[in-house]
Amino acid sequence: MTNTKIPILVVEDEEAIREGLIDVLVYHGSEVESAATGPEGLKLAQSGKFALILLDIMLPGMDGYEICNRIREDDRDQPIIMLTAKTSDEEIVQGLKLGADDYVAKPFSIQQLILRIEAVLRRSKTGVEQARTIQLGNLSIDTENLSGQNGSHELSFTKREIELLAYLAQHPDRPIPRE
Ligand code: CA
Repeated sequence: MTNTKIPILVVEDEEAIREGLIDVLVYHGSEVESAATGPEGLKLAQSGKFALILLDIMLPGMDGYEICNRIREDDRDQPIIMLTAKTSDEEIVQGLKLGADDYVAKPFSIQQLILRIEAVLRRSKTGVEQARTIQLGNLSIDTENLSGQNGSHELSFTKREIELLAYLAQHPDRPIPRE
């Protein structure tokens, strides 16, 4: 990544995965703190000092969805990557609905993980992800007015829907469940 130490929080209860993530991230020049339970993870996350939070979903005490939700109540811009089970579309959709910036499906390759992290950090730095207008096929979406146009049809969206559409527009190659 870079020569500056990037502070990253890892919230993961499975020790082997947690320790593996810490090793990889430290090797790539990050300064890592970690938590093995939901409440501990939330407490650290709310310090607001992390450039990125890697957040597992199934955690003792409080799940990753609730943690994500609580972080978003305080800070809309905190970069978060959810760690999901590979086959679970529901987990992916739910995580993105709650405002996660991206997801990595377990088991993940280190290369894939590092690429995702770099992409999320890059976007959070430049803020380019908040493009005013999103174009998806025939659909043109105004992200500030939460409105859209499909041919002559006027559409309106919720904030969450806009975020999902923005995610789709940014990741044309990512497998996102249809619903
Ligand atoms: Ca877990």
